[in-house]
Amino acid sequence: MPEPTGPKQSAAPAVAPQSPPLWLLAELTYKCPLQCPYCSNPLDFADHGEELTTEQWIDVFRQARKMGAAQLGFSGGEPLVRRDLEQLIAEGRKLGYYTNLITSGIGLNADRIAAFREAGLDHIQISFQASDETVNNMLAGSDKAFQQKLKMAREVKAQGYPMVLNFVTHKHNIDRIDRIIELCVELEADFVELATCQYYGWAYENKESLLPTRAQLERAERITNEYRDKLAAAGNPIKLIFVTPDYYEERPKKCMNGWGEIFLTVTPDGTALPCHSARMLPIEFPNVKDSSLQHIWRDSFGFNHFRGDDWMQEPCRSCDEKELDLGGCRCQAYMLAGDMNAADPVCSKSPHHQTILDARAAAENSGEDSPITFRNERNSRVFARG
Ligand code: SF4
Ligand code: SF4
Repeated sequence: MPEPTGPKQSAAPAVAPQSPPLWLLAELTYKCPLQCPYCSNPLDFADHGEELTTEQWIDVFRQARKMGAAQLGFSGGEPLVRRDLEQLIAEGRKLGYYTNLITSGIGLNADRIAAFREAGLDHIQISFQASDETVNNMLAGSDKAFQQKLKMAREVKAQGYPMVLNFVTHKHNIDRIDRIIELCVELEADFVELATCQYYGWAYENKESLLPTRAQLERAERITNEYRDKLAAAGNPIKLIFVTPDYYEERPKKCMNGWGEIFLTVTPDGTALPCHSARMLPIEFPNVKDSSLQHIWRDSFGFNHFRGDDWMQEPCRSCDEKELDLGGCRCQAYMLAGDMNAADPVCSKSPHHQTILDARAAAENSGEDSPITFRNERNSRVFARG
């Protein structure tokens, strides 16, 4: 990768947002008992500051709700690690949020699910690493993970919750997409996210090992479509959501539906981000301990920098498609082109598109036995030391 460009904080455009943040993602902690090699947490998570207290989180929820936020996601790391989770859910619900818990299921039990129900939690999403116990546990780094997830998925349904099952798909599990879907049907999932791995953070480090080939991806999509038809014909209401990886597209996605337009993420130490990956950028993002959310959302450099299109350079600046994708993902531009202001290299018009073509070619030649860097404290400390 070329050397990244440095911060350009003096060029901040003062673009006030038109709308409030609608979706607040509370990353309560970076602690997690698992070690997924595609985790979206920062590589140097072990080096980040102290977690917000219960009171500080509740204050964040209150401020965001006052600004118009309607949906509150509890994520991490593993949010179940926080012993105040029930209290945070109850406060979120009291404020009128639609609340969603995003969990690996490790640390969950029937009593805790009942307590979440009591607190008013609306929705639970459980993630699996694979449909095969051995592969699941190898990727998770725990011999007990798969059985625990199965048990908790059944318990979530038994307690009457709508349930999302999330499978991040990659080279190690995508050829078993049929078994993944069958498992989700068995578990009576309401929604299934077959989310092809996106290559940020830990996943970027493990791209060689994780990126499937185009043939694998197309097969998985075809099988998913066949299951959709079959399940609909049988009257099964399960929804299968298939997310393709950017690396097999010719145009990028409109990242986060527009920078600082809808999403607001607050990390465990209180850093506010327009997207959960944005912390990798050479921008100093504001912290809820120092500024009000109103100020952060409307006036901070970090949230204003990529609003509108003043920041764009060619080929995006004069592109007739720029309203469709706003130049794509800033993190991907930074990782692959070394310039956060560049066109997302996923775009075939980008002068850095070759990096994507090279990754696709590498995927054809790499096997499941490529080395993996697992997401854990020890490896994170290595990254933190640089
Ligand atoms: S992706 Fe895996 S390692 Fe990362 S927070 Fe989720 S369960 Fe933990
Ligand atoms: S050149 Fe830029 S704006 Fe145009 S399609 Fe590509 S990424 Fe989007």
